[in-house]
Amino acid sequence: MTIPKGWVSIDFKELEDLPCLRYAEKPDRSSSYRLLKEKVVDAGICSHCGTCTICPVDLIILEDRPVDFDPKKGCMGCGVCVAVCPRYNYQPISGLGEYIEAVAGKSKRFVGQDGAMVSEFMATALEMGEIEVALFVARDEMFRPYVVHVRTPDELLDQRITGTKYSYANVMPELHRIIRRVDSVGIIGTPCMISGLRKLQEKVPLYKKKVKLAVGLFCTENFYWHELYDFLKERGADLKNAVKTDIKKGNFIVTFKDGSEFTISVKEMEEIVPSGCHVCQDFSAIEADVSVGSVGSKAGFSTVLIRSETAKKIYDYMLEKGYIETAEAKLNIVQKLCDFKVKIHPYNPKTEECEAEEGKAEEEKKE
Ligand SMILES: Cc1cc2nc3c(=O)[nH]c(=O)nc-3n(C[C@H](O)[C@H](O)[C@H](O)COP(=O)(O)OP(=O)(O)OC[C@H]3O[C@@H](n4cnc5c(N)ncnc54)[C@H](O)[C@@H]3O)c2cc1C
Ligand code: SF4
Ligand code: SF4
Ligand code: SF4
Repeated sequence: MTIPKGWVSIDFKELEDLPCLRYAEKPDRSSSYRLLKEKVVDAGICSHCGTCTICPVDLIILEDRPVDFDPKKGCMGCGVCVAVCPRYNYQPISGLGEYIEAVAGKSKRFVGQDGAMVSEFMATALEMGEIEVALFVARDEMFRPYVVHVRTPDELLDQRITGTKYSYANVMPELHRIIRRVDSVGIIGTPCMISGLRKLQEKVPLYKKKVKLAVGLFCTENFYWHELYDFLKERGADLKNAVKTDIKKGNFIVTFKDGSEFTISVKEMEEIVPSGCHVCQDFSAIEADVSVGSVGSKAGFSTVLIRSETAKKIYDYMLEKGYIETAEAKLNIVQKLCDFKVKIHPYNPKTEECEAEEGKAEEEKKE
């Protein structure tokens, strides 16, 4: 295929396995990303999952603020950003989803947010050779999240790598960056990221082949890091001195180096919850291989929903090796949280017919 004169110069070999080439037969240089901008970002339903940063010309900007676009990069109209966006033609998913086994677990090897079962799943997968690298979300001294590559279980003894960061993390851009350089990878993400990953895997075979394990986290809401930092600082809690952040029983709790705690009701944080979370109904990361959360198990344990055969194999291995302690998971509590999320985040997607009807009504009004 020849690239039309004046187009941004990219190496088409780079796009191997992407649907771009298919769409590029009829390119419309300027309009494809606008679809994403109008229907998802400007519509306030973007989840900040970062899947669209697969863009081959880096036109999509994912920073600690709503997704933005840099048209100067020259959209080549490939349509891949729209094709992989889980919020384009968004149909919310909700509930507990399907699972093979549900359990409460606690790692004997690692210290994490709850029972460190997320870390244990990745560590065991690395040890078994199921994955070559795992993408984790670590934190800096200001509790700002950043993505790290973990290749050996011992690296997870660093407690800045384990534990929850209540801010958006650039997991998907990092996955895009390394996908061609690794054979197998595991990722951890909020439910919206897992939905992005699944859509990506559906459209781009390379990701299906290489992402071998997707661990999803239970999730009710998330924050932009700078908004969370400023909000807490204004109320006297400086994340610079924090060692842990947690949400328990409707409260956001910050634990500091000296052992003291700051607590604020999550309801009071409503003003900084981004709009994309307000339309999200997936609490339990339905599309993950294994979902892990806090609710539904006793203190110090994580609730684990094993959904795929790969996750089951990893779980059986950690049991056999004696890496974990198990207890009963109370799924009725998880179900309650799933239902609660649907209740507080109503979303009625407009169908195409509905939009057409609205358009007709507008026209009639003008006449
Ligand atoms: C934004 C957010 C909201 C959550 N809300 C709830 C909730 O309402 N109810 C509930 O029961 N559980 C919730 N969780 C999950 C919970 O906080 C724990 O992460 C989960 O129980 C796993 O604990 P663990 O000890 O097994 O994990 P660990 O072994 O400590 O590992 C957790 C791993 O998660 C990854 N991670 C941390 N922060 C992020 C992030 N922002 N984005 C992507 N990956 C990340 C890191 O790689 C970290 O190592 C939430 C998690 C997040 C990130
Ligand atoms: S992914 Fe393709 S359509 Fe989307 S912004 Fe980038 S070049 Fe344009
Ligand atoms: S929902 Fe995800 S893929 Fe869609 S525009 Fe937002 S960040 Fe991009
Ligand atoms: S609530 Fe959680 S899963 Fe839903 S959009 Fe926000 S961060 Fe993503």
